[in-house]
Amino acid sequence: MTFKLPVALAAMLVLAAPALAADPPRPPAAVAFRIGQLQAWSLRDADFAIANDGKTFGADVDPAEVSRVLAAAGRPTDRIPVDIDALLVKTGDRLVLMDTGLGPLATNQLVASLKLAGFAPAQVTDVLITHSHYDHVSGLMTAARTLTFPNATVRMSTREWAWMRSQPQNAALVALIEPRVTPFELGAELAPGITAVALDGHTPGHSGYEVRSGEARLLDVGDMVHSSVVSLARPDWAMGFDSDKVLGRTTRHAELSRLARSGERVFTPHFPFPGVGHVVAQGDGFVWKPGVE
Ligand SMILES: [Zn+2]
Repeated sequence: MTFKLPVALAAMLVLAAPALAADPPRPPAAVAFRIGQLQAWSLRDADFAIANDGKTFGADVDPAEVSRVLAAAGRPTDRIPVDIDALLVKTGDRLVLMDTGLGPLATNQLVASLKLAGFAPAQVTDVLITHSHYDHVSGLMTAARTLTFPNATVRMSTREWAWMRSQPQNAALVALIEPRVTPFELGAELAPGITAVALDGHTPGHSGYEVRSGEARLLDVGDMVHSSVVSLARPDWAMGFDSDKVLGRTTRHAELSRLARSGERVFTPHFPFPGVGHVVAQGDGFVWKPGVE
């Protein structure tokens, strides 16, 4: 770790993931692109790497097999990079942020990235949460334990909100955001052109978000995938972070197949920034073709 963490939050981080922070962290960044008539930005929050220790990527195979996949892609084999980014979409008079990064667990770069896109936190009208893991919800709260986005409605699926409230380590955050949370049923349209999509397995109520404008489509897949190399080359391998590893694998394979067939653009919070691109079928798996177009 390269940054100071409050003790309780540090304990949560260690429990949740054997993550290694980039040193020094890369600077805040915002990459603008369009989805049909809508303006969108990818916002950088943090950079991490997960050790190739057999517990997370390929949790059901030998780490040597994971190493072979990484080496074949020309990547280091001892650790797997995991960026943390968020998606911002302007639709009508709504400014919609999807996930909130690490917030005070890291260096609050998401807020600095939001400012680079030209917005203040008070301008965000809706925060859509894919799921309640710490690297997606911690940015809802400032270091002073106030709301980061004071005017935003916080949306997550009914099942995810129930699960988040059941986790003792979330108590402070739940108490803070509860007055702002409006849960939804999967399939609901949450803002003009933005629909919640069930992507089951990672957490009990994990949701993706499809953004549509005219013929243009982009799917924020949340944590259906984590590595632009391993998750795509071997979607059938168990992911240590998935609550239901069998369901996670089934969803990952089916959805990657659908995305490769449709050619739909994809946003992933954990692929290399800006995390926008296409999934292409290759051999028994898939490869990532980054690009905002
Ligand atoms: Zn995540």
